[in-house]
Amino acid sequence: MRDPRYDILFEPMDIGPVTSKNRFYQVPHCNGGGYRDPSAAAAMRGIKSQGGWGVVFTEQCEMHHTSEITPFIELRLWEDKDIPQLRKMSEKMKEHGALAGIQLAYSGINGPNLYSKEVPLAVSAMPIRTFTNDPVQARALDKTDIRDLRRWFVNAAKRSKDADFDLICLYGAHGFGIFQHFLSRATNQRSDEYGGSLENRARFVNEVISDMRDAVGDTMGITLRVSLDETIGDLGFSNAEVRDFIEMNRDLPDLWDLAQGTWEDCSGPSRFKEEAAQEQLVRGIHDLTDKPIVGVGRFTSPDVMAKMIRSGTLDFIGCARPSIADPFLPKKIEEGRIEDIRECIGCNICITGDMTMSISRCTQNPTFMEEWRKGWHPEQMNAKGTSSSVLVVGSGPAGLEATRALAERGYDVALAEAKTVLGGRVTRERQLPGLSAWGRVVDYREYQISQKANVETYFDSALDAGSILEFGFENICIATGARWRDDGVSRQHVVPMPVNGDMPLYTPDHIMDGKIPSGKIVIYDDDHYYMGGVLAELLVSAGCDVTIITPSAYLSDWTVNTLEQHAIHKKLAGMGVNVVLNRGVTQIESGHVVSDCVYTGTEQNFDCDAVVMVASKLENNGLYHHLKSRESEWADAGIKSVRLIGDANAPGPIAWATYAGHRYARELDGEDIGDALPFRREITELAVD
Ligand code: ADP
Ligand code: SF4
Repeated sequence: MRDPRYDILFEPMDIGPVTSKNRFYQVPHCNGGGYRDPSAAAAMRGIKSQGGWGVVFTEQCEMHHTSEITPFIELRLWEDKDIPQLRKMSEKMKEHGALAGIQLAYSGINGPNLYSKEVPLAVSAMPIRTFTNDPVQARALDKTDIRDLRRWFVNAAKRSKDADFDLICLYGAHGFGIFQHFLSRATNQRSDEYGGSLENRARFVNEVISDMRDAVGDTMGITLRVSLDETIGDLGFSNAEVRDFIEMNRDLPDLWDLAQGTWEDCSGPSRFKEEAAQEQLVRGIHDLTDKPIVGVGRFTSPDVMAKMIRSGTLDFIGCARPSIADPFLPKKIEEGRIEDIRECIGCNICITGDMTMSISRCTQNPTFMEEWRKGWHPEQMNAKGTSSSVLVVGSGPAGLEATRALAERGYDVALAEAKTVLGGRVTRERQLPGLSAWGRVVDYREYQISQKANVETYFDSALDAGSILEFGFENICIATGARWRDDGVSRQHVVPMPVNGDMPLYTPDHIMDGKIPSGKIVIYDDDHYYMGGVLAELLVSAGCDVTIITPSAYLSDWTVNTLEQHAIHKKLAGMGVNVVLNRGVTQIESGHVVSDCVYTGTEQNFDCDAVVMVASKLENNGLYHHLKSRESEWADAGIKSVRLIGDANAPGPIAWATYAGHRYARELDGEDIGDALPFRREITELAVD
């Protein structure tokens, strides 16, 4: 049963004319599906409702075609035709008693209108500010445009009501929504009654909320999402000015939704931001308003949540990522099952779905965005199939998730691990600077497996094909992982590069094994995700003089998608790492490496005492191939299937491994679907000409 300390989290609270049943508030978050995958997004929101959230929001919904953020895929409410897909979403949200919220966004200076081809309208005429530096400028809204924009907001509010939403969030946070653009002197340089003093800059939001109240305020709650600090100094909408604004407009929205700063601040990864990182910025704001406040902070601990409410800092616990990693977080607290919470690790893989316009994944919750496509539920597995036993070889994220999910289905599972600890790469990588929270991938699964009577774990068990053939398990799942290459093969080099044997050469595996080089080190990073940067941090802390050379124009290039590239470069530069961009390494000599410019080929030598090669990985698939070569013996050994999964199949981020493990468990003993697509897909209906 529920711990009484957490009762406070389950007290109902009004938001304008509607009431949330508890304090768990899923703030708007992207999912990479948006208008392209409306049923997948709706089903994902429905699962949150089932998981006990009091409030469930959409992601940002573009409320007018004159402001859109193509190529990013969010929602759209441009005309009545958009209402049915949004109604489908609100219905799912409300199915289990949550309030359904829609976030209306007019992107202004942030919307390049690449799809609609409309001239962007912004508070002041300026270049569009996006991730991609689009060569487009916006025109300043004139008085007629402002009147139009107010009317468009009212139209969108009425359509939101038609689509059966209970709450509207006006987006003015993260630098993305027009309300912030009006409020901030950085983006509002007007000299009319909408610019200048804070009162003037707050005029537009006051007008819109008043218009919307008249239109829908009797039945819908209206919330305002602003950032607690624009984080660009005094020119921006600073924390002090946010406080002045709230104090001057105490009762403006029905609820204040306080995000942190930029999106990178608000969704800061665990490598750079702790849980409840924005507490200082939000503390005391409650005294300035009579309306409830929701705030975020990658909250996963019910103690921290209860403290936030008891201390009067927040009224609602806002969660995006924690609700993705565990949609059943509120239910688990309510049922006194704290240890079953699947805590977000703060890796931001979920955000990469939006940034790459694909569809999101979650490292911890492989069912995220597969609720409709594959019918996967985060808490319920499909019924057991015809066979009964599985041997899982390797306990990295792939093997652990396969074991957990297979056991949940009711199979007898033996998990064999060559080492004396569970976790594979995660157990190694969690020791690296800034990555300790990633260990939750193992902690969650290790605990869950320990609770299952149908799992046996065997340590110190480096299995070979002969022993597996002797054991007599019906199904064999090979999850033996991968190791870093030391020959430089990755993207720049498709065949091994010349290496002089006199140069001490390290891979990330050597360093994670505790073999730390000393002196002057060159890290060659042709992997482009986190590993090169993390090792640079580690080696500087160990006293090395570090140069990191990468053929990319950005350090840890792919981390643009996890919103941490900027923070990584800043940190490494601050630590004194010599960051060399746009250069490869063509050969490793005794005492130096030869580096080439990726544009001109101009060579330059970098002296060093050792080289760390962060290139690509080699699959540990030898065991699988040995078993395959003895396929004729399988039937006598009672083996029905042998499958290779995770990094041993094809190396990738940890989220790819947990997904592979989960998929294996779901599909074992499943019917052969032949050439059919293994997921459901939504296709736009052809218009009648
Ligand atoms: P993944 O990311 O695919 O889960 P990891 O590299 O994290 O892969 O984990 C693979 C795990 O498999 C490691 O813990 C490793 O010790 C273990 N392993 C590798 N080969 C064998 C083997 N032949 N028998 C048992 N365990 C193995
Ligand atoms: Fe958290 Fe990572 Fe899952 Fe996102 S992908 S919800 S950051 S665990």
